[in-house]
Amino acid sequence: MIAGDPIDICTNPYKTIAITVLTSPAVLYFGATPSSSAKLSRIYGKKGNIVGVPETVILDANGHELPAGIGQLLAIIARNKTISRAHLEQQSRLSRATIVQRLGVLFNAGLITEADETAPSGGRPSKLLKINETFALTLAADIGESMIRVVLTTLEPRIVAEITFANSFDIAPETTLREIMAQGEKLLAGIGRKKADLLGIGLSLPAPVDYDNALVVGPSVMRGWDGFDIRGWFREQHAIRVFADNDVNLMAVAEQRAHWPDEDCFFFIKAGTGIGSGIVTRGELFRGGQGAAGDVGHIQLDWAEPPLCRCGKLGCLEAYAAGWAIARTLRDKGFEAESARDIINLVQRNVPEAIQQIRFAGRGLGEIVASVVSILNPSRIVVGGTLALGGEHLLAGIREQVSQRCLPLATRKLQISTARSDERAGVLGAAQLVIDERLQSVGK
Ligand SMILES: [Zn+2]
Repeated sequence: MIAGDPIDICTNPYKTIAITVLTSPAVLYFGATPSSSAKLSRIYGKKGNIVGVPETVILDANGHELPAGIGQLLAIIARNKTISRAHLEQQSRLSRATIVQRLGVLFNAGLITEADETAPSGGRPSKLLKINETFALTLAADIGESMIRVVLTTLEPRIVAEITFANSFDIAPETTLREIMAQGEKLLAGIGRKKADLLGIGLSLPAPVDYDNALVVGPSVMRGWDGFDIRGWFREQHAIRVFADNDVNLMAVAEQRAHWPDEDCFFFIKAGTGIGSGIVTRGELFRGGQGAAGDVGHIQLDWAEPPLCRCGKLGCLEAYAAGWAIARTLRDKGFEAESARDIINLVQRNVPEAIQQIRFAGRGLGEIVASVVSILNPSRIVVGGTLALGGEHLLAGIREQVSQRCLPLATRKLQISTARSDERAGVLGAAQLVIDERLQSVGK
C-alpha cells in the first residue's frame, strides 16, 4: 500500500445498502430508504445552514426536538448492539409504556431499526432492536508516534473507509489536524458522503488526556500538543464536535465492547513500547477525577537494583516491562532490538534470552495487576499491545503474581487472556466515544 492512498477495507460499505442523501440549502435528511425519507430526522445548524454537528440537533419527523431522556434509551440500545424490549425495560428501569412511547419516537426519527434476530419468548416472537447504523458516520483518527490512521465508521461502529499516513510530533498540532480533516474529507468523497453526515470526530492520542476539556496534559512524546485547544480548533475550523482520549483507554473500550460485552468489570493492560491500562465498568470507561486513571507505567516496583526509567525515576514498571526497556536489555546482550516488534520476532524464533525477558516482564506486570485485582476485583483482565504476542510467556508471570498475592474470592472467577482486537482497536475506540457521547446527549 502506498501511504496516502485511501483503502476501502469493507467489502460492502454502501454499495448494497440503499442510502439516500437528500440535501437542500437549509436541511439535510438522511436514512435508510428513499420511501422512508419523509420520516427521517433532520440535522441542521441553529442558523439553518448545514454546519456539521456542534450546534446541530436531531429532530423528529415533525421538526420537534426529541424528548428529554431519550438519549438514555438510545445509548443502551447502542451499547448492546442488539437488545430485546424486555431487556431494555430491565436495563433502563423505565416503565413499559414509557419505553413503547420513546421507541416510537426513535423509530420515526430513523435512529433505530429492528434486527433480523427475534427475542426468545414464550409468546409472540418480537424482533430485537438495534441502532440504525447508517444514520450517520463518525470520523476517527488514531494519532501514533510514527503513523496516523484515519477512518470513517458506521454507528456499529464498522470501518467503511480507511487511510494511513506518516506522522511526526515535530509538526505543529494545527498542521496535523488539518491533514487529518483533509484525509477525512477525501474518504467521505470516496464513498459519496459529506462532512455534514458526520456525527462527530474521535481522536486517540498517545498521551495523558484531560477528557472533559479534550486537552493533552504533560505528554512525554507529543510536547507540542501540551495544552493545545483541540476542541476549539475543530469548532472554529470545521464546526464539528470532537472527543479525544488516551489511546489505551480507547483500546480498552473497543476490546470490551467488541469481544467481552458481558464483562461488567474489565481491566485492560497494554504492553507495547510503553505501558498503560484502561478500566471499563458496565461498558463505560472509568477515567477517575481528571482522566489519569489507569496510568500504571510509572508505578515503582520495590525490586533489587532498580533500572533507570525514561521518566528519570528508578524502578518504574516500564523500566522492567516496556518494549523500550526490554529492547535496551537485549541490545546490552548483543541482540539487534529497537522495538517491541523486534522483541516478539526474537521470541517467535525461540531465542532464550528474549523469552526470559518477556517472562521477567510478565512478573513485573503481574505485580501491578495483582494490586489492581485487590482494588477493583475485575472479572476479566486482557493484555494487549505488541508484547501480548508473547502469549503464555507473558501471561505466566501475571497469573503467578495474581494467584500468589490476591484473595481467593477475587481470583476464583478471574480470567486473564490476551487481546482479540487488532491494530484498529484505538481508532474503533475513538469512533465508539463519538457514538456514545452523541447518542447519549440526544434530547438533552
Ligand atoms: Zn518511569
